Amino acid sequence: MKRIVIIGNSAAGIAAAETIRAIDKESPITILSEEATPAYERFKILKLLASKVKERELVWRNADFYKNNALDLRLEAQVVELNLHKKKAILKDDTFVAFDVLLLATGRKTMLPKIKGTQKEGVVAFNSLKDVKYVIDNLPVAHTVVVIGSGLIAEEIARIIAEKKIEVKFFGVLSGPIEGVDAIVDHSVIEILGEAEAKAVRLSNQKVIGASLVIFAGAPEPCLDLVRDTEIKAEQGVLVDDTMRTSVDFVLAAGDVARVAGREKIYGWDQAVAEGRLAGGTICQM
Ligand SMILES: Cc1cc2nc3c(=O)[nH]c(=O)nc-3n(C[C@H](O)[C@H](O)[C@H](O)COP(=O)(O)OP(=O)(O)OC[C@H]3O[C@@H](n4cnc5c(N)ncnc54)[C@H](O)[C@@H]3O)c2cc1C
Repeated sequence: MKRIVIIGNSAAGIAAAETIRAIDKESPITILSEEATPAYERFKILKLLASKVKERELVWRNADFYKNNALDLRLEAQVVELNLHKKKAILKDDTFVAFDVLLLATGRKTMLPKIKGTQKEGVVAFNSLKDVKYVIDNLPVAHTVVVIGSGLIAEEIARIIAEKKIEVKFFGVLSGPIEGVDAIVDHSVIEILGEAEAKAVRLSNQKVIGASLVIFAGAPEPCLDLVRDTEIKAEQGVLVDDTMRTSVDFVLAAGDVARVAGREKIYGWDQAVAEGRLAGGTICQM
């Protein structure tokens, strides 16, 4: 029996927990998630924005799943530090969870850039169910929406909002024109203006554009904060071997946060599930 802690309650974390439970019915498994809901299908959140699915259709594993598998799910439990010497995950509220084996399944995120004003109401980095619900709640009163980013997700957000007949200013390169989306490539956003709430953005040419909602999307980065200044080696991802073990023998990583040195990383839901299963199998052999 070993105390297993999984940080991240999504594709990789759940797949690992399921794999472990299929073999090991005894070891306590704690899943720590900074989010507020049981696992959902993250790749469908754009469909929620487009009103093509209801929130309940996103549920991947409901409360019964955790109960039936004796998984101790702790929601809104953000881990802020790892004490590898004492084998403790320290939470934001200063409590801790002790482990014998730790799995990092923390994924990737679009971060807010280090420009002025990103703490204001109406500014969001688009990563989670909470973020998409925030956008949905704010759209009815939005006059102009600024989308900053690159890649398919950013483009899709711009397209869906424009289809709702709301003006969209897109800062980034579009793969092709989108009706109702004004793409701006010459200047970037350097500041978000307004008192407590976003009212406008200032561009690198000092021009000011009114905007009540500012969405950062695309260009996600692996969540590496927890491994900085630890013995867990990371380089554009937590470095793992083919069994998902990291450079610390009681710590594993899987999913979007993990990568094998020298090998091209494949990101995505199915890959994260596969890596989670692999990590779960390794944990059972430890
Ligand atoms: C809008 C969008 C659309 C997408 N569409 C597709 C698609 O069509 N097809 C596809 O294959 N993939 C898609 N993806 C990517 C896919 O969702 C990811 O590849 C997959 O979710 C990765 O799974 P994961 O378990 O590694 O990490 P994640 O799903 O990112 O989960 C990591 C979890 O760990 C939590 N966490 C992080 N740090 C901490 C901490 N310190 N303490 C506690 N909890 C923490 C995070 O909040 C998150 O809940 C999409 C992603 C987004 C955002």
